[in-house]
Amino acid sequence: MSQVINNSLKQLGQMLASKQISSVELTQEYLRRIDALNPDINAYITLDKDKTLAQAKAADARIAAGKAEVLTGIPIAQKDIFCAQGWRTTCGSHMLENFIAPYDAYVIKQFDAAGAVNLGKTNMDEFAMGSSNETSYFGGVKNPWDRSRVPGGSSGGSAAAVAARLCAAATGTDTGGSIRQPASLCGFTGLKPTYGLVSRYGMIAFASSLDQAGPMAKSAEDCALMLNIMAGFDEKDSTSVNRPKEDYTRDLNKPLQGLRIGLPKEYFADGLEANVGAVVQAAIEEYKKLGAEIVDISLPNTQLSIPVYYVIAPAEASSNLSRYDGVRYGHRAKEYTDLMDMYCKTRAEGFGAEVKRRILIGTYVLSAGYYDAYYLKAQQIRRLIAQDFTEAFKQCDVIMGPAAPSTAFKIGEKADDPVAMYLQDIYTIAVNLAGLPGMSIPAGFSNGLPVGLQIIGNYFDEARMLNVGHAYQQVTDWHTRMPEGI
Ligand code: GLN
Repeated sequence: MSQVINNSLKQLGQMLASKQISSVELTQEYLRRIDALNPDINAYITLDKDKTLAQAKAADARIAAGKAEVLTGIPIAQKDIFCAQGWRTTCGSHMLENFIAPYDAYVIKQFDAAGAVNLGKTNMDEFAMGSSNETSYFGGVKNPWDRSRVPGGSSGGSAAAVAARLCAAATGTDTGGSIRQPASLCGFTGLKPTYGLVSRYGMIAFASSLDQAGPMAKSAEDCALMLNIMAGFDEKDSTSVNRPKEDYTRDLNKPLQGLRIGLPKEYFADGLEANVGAVVQAAIEEYKKLGAEIVDISLPNTQLSIPVYYVIAPAEASSNLSRYDGVRYGHRAKEYTDLMDMYCKTRAEGFGAEVKRRILIGTYVLSAGYYDAYYLKAQQIRRLIAQDFTEAFKQCDVIMGPAAPSTAFKIGEKADDPVAMYLQDIYTIAVNLAGLPGMSIPAGFSNGLPVGLQIIGNYFDEARMLNVGHAYQQVTDWHTRMPEGI
């Protein structure tokens, strides 16, 4: 059984199809591992073994009936930001601690239709605000590579679950880096798709113009199979893009001869830890051996991406989170004098410090007199940031650089310094502001800790990015490495 947990999704699918293992057996193996490791790692907030095993049973029946699809019977962990009918869905918040979702998110529906098994809901920063998973109401998550360190965030539970092989693959969401930064810190492959490719329906909103769901898995090939399930037009999301379904595995084996890789000088400057830079450079050397050409490019507005994001994201969050008022659903204060007092106490009790900080910033930048100075200005610079990428993609096919400026940091190290925490996303946030796709693949280690290589693609160029990731994973084995003691 120990071998099974490091298998690719394709291998697992073949084992299920050939009846070497049943979905119930595979699911039980993961549940057993979760029982053993989760009390310490804290990757999952909610498990519901009855529901999970019922899905596994149904998958076995479907396989027996010859109606299996690629992911039928495979146990997938779902970030606790996705509403799943009948499942507690907390978004990492006390506000939603006892919220049972009455309907399925689009993403959940897609996995259900494919016959995948929902293994449980994973831990995350509260309302996806954070880079270390330390803002979760349900406690921090430990990085399986070094349990004194953070897994990254906000999709820290999914990240630890993939790294510790507590699921076959997982979902995440990325508003400013929450798939790619934890992928870098935990040593696996994560992809944030082009904005609009994956429906946000039923995905609890943080910053709606930036939020995007994506796969977190061991390899690029696994991510391609996951994206095949997740992507698709959905009329219930007004920003869902109506384009034909694609097979993201179609270009995996294309040769990379002649691929033009842009290296932005701003991504290799001050702020990047030297050891991380060295690993990223070595990965780029590997791409040269595969026939790629290097092009020096510039993304001149990179430094502005964090200040712009911390105006726009809180502005949208303050609006999105106004719905948690104690009236419709979620937490309500027990004692209050009148309606206003009920609102105030409910929100004071229900939200954690980071969420409150964002609501305060957001309402401030949207208020009369400040709107033009902050929010409008930020939107204008956002456009310039997107234009930087448009210019760059005239010279190259993909852009490469680090996904995060450092390896996993110690739990508590940045918890009291929001600005230091915000800087974790210096290489990822601009991609969200531009609506582009980005991924992180394991590129090596520094002092025993994983380092990710970021691959940024042009709009809807996910198939090429996955090809670029897969080619590297054919000549390296970083993505197959597992932490000790798991
Ligand atoms: N770390 C960033 C933030 O705190 C991004 C989070 C995310 O992508 N959800 O907002």
